[in-house]
Amino acid sequence: MQQEEREKRRVYAKISKAALCHNMEAMQASLPAGIKMAGVVKADGYGHGAASVCEVIAPYVAFYCVAAAEEALELREKGIEKPILILGPVPGDNYASLIRAGIRPSIFTEEQAASLSTAAVALGIRAPFHLAVDTGMNRIGLRADETGVALAEKITAYPMLDFEGMFTHFYRADEWDLETTERQTARFRNFKTALAEKGLKPRICHVANSAGILNLHGTDFDMVRAGIALYGIYPAEEMAHTVRLKPALSLHSTVTYVKEVPAGEAISYGGTYVAASAKRVATVPVGYGDGYPRSLSNKGEVLIHGKRCRILGRVCMDQFMVDVSEVREAAPGSPVTLLGADGNERITLEELAEKSGRFPYEFMCCLNRRVPRIYC
Ligand SMILES: *Cc1c(COP(=O)(O)O)cnc(C)c1O
Repeated sequence: MQQEEREKRRVYAKISKAALCHNMEAMQASLPAGIKMAGVVKADGYGHGAASVCEVIAPYVAFYCVAAAEEALELREKGIEKPILILGPVPGDNYASLIRAGIRPSIFTEEQAASLSTAAVALGIRAPFHLAVDTGMNRIGLRADETGVALAEKITAYPMLDFEGMFTHFYRADEWDLETTERQTARFRNFKTALAEKGLKPRICHVANSAGILNLHGTDFDMVRAGIALYGIYPAEEMAHTVRLKPALSLHSTVTYVKEVPAGEAISYGGTYVAASAKRVATVPVGYGDGYPRSLSNKGEVLIHGKRCRILGRVCMDQFMVDVSEVREAAPGSPVTLLGADGNERITLEELAEKSGRFPYEFMCCLNRRVPRIYC
């Protein structure tokens, strides 16, 4: 981006389309041939902008996954066309609009099946759905046992329903010890066999999330669901780095003001930082009103002219101050990197998450509407 144009922006998140594509290709290359991929774009694409991410990854995916009906409908309004699966339960009065838009709900109770069927019959359109199976997380899904088989028989018997898919979700696939994950996969496989014996055969079974994909667990069904890894972030630091991912999002701003602060003076709300010696201080126009964590007060660092500069005092709603005593070139207009690389230095999401006490996934989701997303 041109210097001038950049300076017009107080703060912006830069999203690399090349990184998103690289991550999809790297995962695809590590998977058994013929496995379909779904791109998980819930929570506005983990803060990256769901519709834009969908467009970029379209060549690689068979499905998009979201968490809520509104998210799915918004993607349709924005012209996103592939099948969309909603991973969580939705209120029953949404079913008609979902069926019309070709959006698949997750179904796991008879009440849900009955409402979906009623809407499908009224519209005269067969409604595809995915059966959510609980293999141990105890979040949603019918139990992967005989009671679950009986319930699946009832659910699939409702008129005008199309048993398109079936899935379960891992809850510990990002750890070294994959025993729980293996048990979950085995339960799912047995459940699938038990349904097949009753003549129930969904066309698309899917199990692996990002951690499963990277550890090659649950990747031998029909499809996998790539979330955090699509954005270039490892689900956990202890993950085997089998696939090289590239973080897609970086966060940038511009210095608005630079001044000398004499020894003994306080900086920012509460006076939690007092300069022990004279300091050169730069003001950065970003704050917790943008989703930048206040917990980085007196702790976080940013990059200015390729050097790390520590945050001095509290992060305010819209601004914070950093130490540029060692960065002679720092001046109003100097680029500030809050997340990402500048020269040989890099601030990773893991570092920000660790220092702020936020979970990496959460950090991404918290960047809000006030931060424009620029795709390049
Ligand atoms: C969020 C979610 C995913 C994606 O998880 P990642 O760890 O981001 O890959 C996959 N499946 C379900 C059911 C989810 O809720």
